Amino acid sequence: MAEQHRKGELVPEDEDTDDCLTSYTHIFSPDLLKDQVAFITGGGSGIGLRIAEILMRHGCDTVIASRNLDKLKEAAKKLSAASGRHCLPLCVDVRQPENITAAVDEALKEFGRIDILINNAAGNFLCPATSLSFNAFKTVMEIDTMGTFNTSKVVYEKWFKDHGGNIVNISATLGYKGQALQVHAGSAKAANDAMTKHLAVEWGPSGVRVNAVAPGPISGTEGFRRLGGPRGEAAGAFQSIPLQRAGNKTEMAHCTLFLASRASSYVTGAILVADGGSWLTSANDVSMLLGIASSKSAKL
Ligand code: NAP
Repeated sequence: MAEQHRKGELVPEDEDTDDCLTSYTHIFSPDLLKDQVAFITGGGSGIGLRIAEILMRHGCDTVIASRNLDKLKEAAKKLSAASGRHCLPLCVDVRQPENITAAVDEALKEFGRIDILINNAAGNFLCPATSLSFNAFKTVMEIDTMGTFNTSKVVYEKWFKDHGGNIVNISATLGYKGQALQVHAGSAKAANDAMTKHLAVEWGPSGVRVNAVAPGPISGTEGFRRLGGPRGEAAGAFQSIPLQRAGNKTEMAHCTLFLASRASSYVTGAILVADGGSWLTSANDVSMLLGIASSKSAKL
């Protein structure tokens, strides 16, 4: 999809599928990340894949790391074809520190450096607290929160401690108002927002910046589909958002690029909310959201 004008704003290109963009207009300098290397968890789908693509379109090589190696290999081929940069797919479960250690060793062997870490991997489903099993809550905390800590710590110890670097955590606004059916993800991301600040404080002296992007509803993602996004969009549900639309994956990638690059050189410990103003005005209606949840299978 080409850039679109909407009431005076220019919305960047995106594709609803996990494919690369068919056209792309640079906003930032195309060599902003020239010859840098980014390690992106969950980089084989959704927002993480688009982040990988946009970083690569700015001169960066990438490692995309998650559990499903076949999906990652396919994504890596598409990403390299679209950008002309190298993408290394690695099988990692962010709950397993030894997995991460092996992957970071492999990345350093292949590229000789890591400049950027994007903690994007997350579990994702809607469920009322009363139906949420102890195990489901624990699993989301393990992927979203422990996963972010595990990966940050391994990359810091193996490379950032001595060379500096940039960490961008992909957060969410769910905890700001206590979004119904999201106690697991909202709690996990709230912990991550605190972690963003703690690590910014402790690792700043080593030249490591730690920031976060908190997306609102983002089209072309699994989370958006599970939240009834396309149906809601058709029914005008986004009219209550100040910017009156869902965001797209390229917009999240641009925010991430800003925080991961020297464009934000004096920013650390910040959480960039990129939600069109959504959390300020959107409904938090338990019965309406329960209707959506009951029509979906609540699974990881
Ligand atoms: P997605 O496509 O489901 O991305 C999640 C990724 O995490 C997948 O690629 C998955 O790959 C990976 N993953 C899950 N468990 C993992 C584990 N244990 N170890 C390693 N990787 C794991 O969803 P998305 O919507 O693009 O979400 C991306 C990020 O944006 C998440 O942090 C999410 O919370 C945040 N976010 C999204 C929205 C939205 O509207 N979509 C809104 C707010 C925040 P494998 O299955 O291969 O492991």
